[in-house]
Amino acid sequence: MRIAMIGAGYVGLVSGACFAEFGVDVTVMDVDPDRIEGLRAGRMPIYEPGLDKLVEENARDGRLNFTTDLAEAVRGADAVFLAVGTPTRRGDGHADLTYVYAAAEQVARAAQGPLVLVTKSTVPVGTGREVQAIVRRVRPDLPISVASNPEFLREGSAIGDFMRPDRVVIGVDDERALTALKRLYRPLYLIETPVLAVSLESAELIKYAANAFLATKITFINEIADLCEKVGADVHDVARGMGLDGRIGRKFLHPGPGYGGSCFPKDTLALARTAQDAGSPVRLVETTIAVNEARKAQMAERILAALGPNPAGRRVGVLGVTFKPETDDMRDAPSLVILPKLVAAGVEVRAFDPQPAHARQALPAAVSFAESALGAAEGADAVVVLTEWNEFRALAPDRLKAAMKGGIVLDLRNVWDPAAMRAAGFTYSSIGRP
Ligand code: NAD
Repeated sequence: MRIAMIGAGYVGLVSGACFAEFGVDVTVMDVDPDRIEGLRAGRMPIYEPGLDKLVEENARDGRLNFTTDLAEAVRGADAVFLAVGTPTRRGDGHADLTYVYAAAEQVARAAQGPLVLVTKSTVPVGTGREVQAIVRRVRPDLPISVASNPEFLREGSAIGDFMRPDRVVIGVDDERALTALKRLYRPLYLIETPVLAVSLESAELIKYAANAFLATKITFINEIADLCEKVGADVHDVARGMGLDGRIGRKFLHPGPGYGGSCFPKDTLALARTAQDAGSPVRLVETTIAVNEARKAQMAERILAALGPNPAGRRVGVLGVTFKPETDDMRDAPSLVILPKLVAAGVEVRAFDPQPAHARQALPAAVSFAESALGAAEGADAVVVLTEWNEFRALAPDRLKAAMKGGIVLDLRNVWDPAAMRAAGFTYSSIGRP
């Protein structure tokens, strides 16, 4: 089969490379010429473990091509996937569908025969119908089927997630689209991946409901962690005791400074807006959004309080600024809320992140960057862990202590053992642990 992937971002590039690995002939198209030129030269526009090798091998074998020419990508394609961004629309929290609708129209104009137009981007309920209307208006002459195939991969483990998903969701209106998508995902039948064929509306809502549920689960354990601190319980014991109940499950019960990233914040907001418009508000999700926003600000206050009554002029070393480990993505990272508040209070902030490609532009210019974790800790009054990169777990407490001027450690990801840190002489605090 032959497909086109419109958008060479985290989702488009990973999905395109994985489909090529499945043996499909894939052309990835993006409007950004630098991105495409870089990809042709083997340079990845994003950091995702294993992606460079997967792209290189499939490009070398001729199954994965890159272009800025939409017509070239669409020519001869059995299916065209839209994997463009759907950021929060300025002002009202709705998903901005400008890129999706523009790309759908361009694909319809470029189509030379029947094809299946698949929305992989996360889009609110009703978008598939709107895409159908666009396609029918632009190309009444062609049988173009519209489908929804939301993507559930996680940055940092995107390739494994795509190759071994918990499920594949296919929203369709007609057999032709279903047959084409089932053919594309055939390799996953071997590992018995459940494939759900549902309506366009259900597929669109599954993605938002899943993300909102996960965001709520994180927010729930964050609030329980706060309660643990007040009453002397250990959130890890509580989470384990809860999570061993099969109805609850152990995943996503790890407390932290609040969820961030390119999906949960914007998707919870968009779901809340969709639900309000439909006259069926999701108040639990609205509360999750509010609690999470407040939490990020509280984390800055917690750091400032630990620095004492005069935080101005004191130095903080920050370990990790990306929204999670194993990615360079800074979109809606908690650091974007926390670090500006520290800077505004006159704190000298020196950060280290193993993948700082986007961090420098995203954070205030006053934040300086070190080349290593110990470099960020050098001369610091306090060290704060914001992202749980594995290498931070391996830092020897005595070396950290020797590098710092003071001994305050705020471990907002619970990467270290409280007893060991206190034994090493630190004034150590973490989330939800005595
Ligand atoms: P991204 O910003 O990394 O990539 C989007 C790409 O689309 C950019 O390279 C941009 O240049 C390109 N683009 C925009 N308009 C275009 C057009 N008209 N034609 C061609 N290319 C165009 O975005 P992403 O993180 O890959 O997310 C894409 C979608 O997938 C979003 O809806 C997102 O919610 C969803 N999603 C993301 C993730 C994730 O972990 N990032 C996971 C699941 C779903």
